[in-house]
Amino acid sequence: MTPANPTAMLAELTHRCPLSCPYCSNPLELIRRDAELSTEQWVEVFRQAGELGVLHVHLSGGEPASRRDLEDLTEAAAEADLYTNLITSGVGLTAKRIAELARRGLEHVQLSIQGPTKAIADEIGGYAGGYERKMQVADWIAAEGLPLTVNAVMHRRNFEKLEDTIDLAVKLGARRLEVATVQFHGWALQNQAALMPTRRQVEAAETIIDDARNRLRGALVIDYVAADYFARFPKACMGGWGSVGLVVTPSGAVMPCHAADTIPHLVFENVRDRPLSEIWEKSDAFNAYRGVDWMQEPCRSCERREIDFGGCRCQAMALAGDAAATDPACEKSPLNEKLQADADAFSRGGDTLVHRAKAPAS
Ligand code: SF4
Ligand code: SF4
Repeated sequence: MTPANPTAMLAELTHRCPLSCPYCSNPLELIRRDAELSTEQWVEVFRQAGELGVLHVHLSGGEPASRRDLEDLTEAAAEADLYTNLITSGVGLTAKRIAELARRGLEHVQLSIQGPTKAIADEIGGYAGGYERKMQVADWIAAEGLPLTVNAVMHRRNFEKLEDTIDLAVKLGARRLEVATVQFHGWALQNQAALMPTRRQVEAAETIIDDARNRLRGALVIDYVAADYFARFPKACMGGWGSVGLVVTPSGAVMPCHAADTIPHLVFENVRDRPLSEIWEKSDAFNAYRGVDWMQEPCRSCERREIDFGGCRCQAMALAGDAAATDPACEKSPLNEKLQADADAFSRGGDTLVHRAKAPAS
């Protein structure tokens, strides 16, 4: 059966980034600059994405502003009729670049903040002066009239500052705040003991978010991605594997989700070798976990199988050693008790942060 068209594409333009967040979900082995797709290749990817029916492109990274051709790529995406959203740390942007991006068709910006104070933000981001630059960048975005979403990854070291984070998003003029509890993929895995939130923090966060949503109704939309390690059921990862979105890596591999290359038996085809539409429809990697036929028990006969699609395949691979297993974040998984016990244990200890390494140039 031919799958429905994807609606969203995450374009990871580069793995280069001036920051070095310890929760970075990029892979341990970063793609080198000289292996990245060229300007012309990205332009062709955007053209094909538009033809395939993609509506939104998220220009991401690493730090997308590390690409000197970001303005050209933005224009190409806009010309392909894609709604363009820039996901940025802000470092590498200037007032002039933001004005040029807006002129070339940029429609929305998501600015990450690592904490609501200079001390926390610069420590977590591993970049002195990063916080002040982000505050400037938010002003420049507002000056161009671009809608702003603030992205905040929350973990044990900054959860106590959740209310301040919400206040900062309001102060920066954001229309939307995305609060995401840290997830442990890629580089983040080695920082579980330093970053795992406590149960008390996670429970308190629910109340803080509910109160803020009521108080700020009409002014700020708050999306909250709760911690799945303390939840009853997993999240519907990517809205279902190969269902609504795709990811193109800096070197052109096409994946159903950002972390899918942690599943060792999958082979990801490349836009340099095959049209995007064929990869989406026919590649083994996309078809491996599409729909529900691949499921094992208890997912196969579960009433939630088309709600959460069995959770995250990458988390099933990492924790159960089988990408087709029930996500251990589900209370029906035989591994759920261990997952919760491990999360509690991680939340009690370890202060050493291992910041992300930088992507080599060649
Ligand atoms: S999480 Fe931090 S280090 Fe990783 S790409 Fe984003 S800003 Fe850069
Ligand atoms: S058993 Fe599978 S489908 Fe059912 S709730 Fe758990 S993860 Fe979701």
